[in-house]
Amino acid sequence: MSKYYVLWTRLHEKFGGAYVRIHAAGCGYCNEGRGALLGRGQNSGIWHGPYDHDEALRFAEGLAVSDTRPCRRCMRSVVDQIGHGPVAVPA
Ligand SMILES: [Zn+2]
Repeated sequence: MSKYYVLWTRLHEKFGGAYVRIHAAGCGYCNEGRGALLGRGQNSGIWHGPYDHDEALRFAEGLAVSDTRPCRRCMRSVVDQIGHGPVAVPA
């Protein structure tokens, strides 16, 4: 079964706050939860996981960060399904 990781970072705080991204384990930005090999940014967050697909979505929603999205690069199927807008976060 595919594994997924959830990245939480405040790196872009000056651009509007923390954000959460959901990645597949094999994604170049995720690298099994170790972050992008090229560094810069994705490494400065906190990786949570691995989770299965539904767990990852639930965990990401539970963080209650308004800017929560599936990775456009590795989660094409989810993006196709719900669009690249924010994941629905419970009020
Ligand atoms: Zn990704």
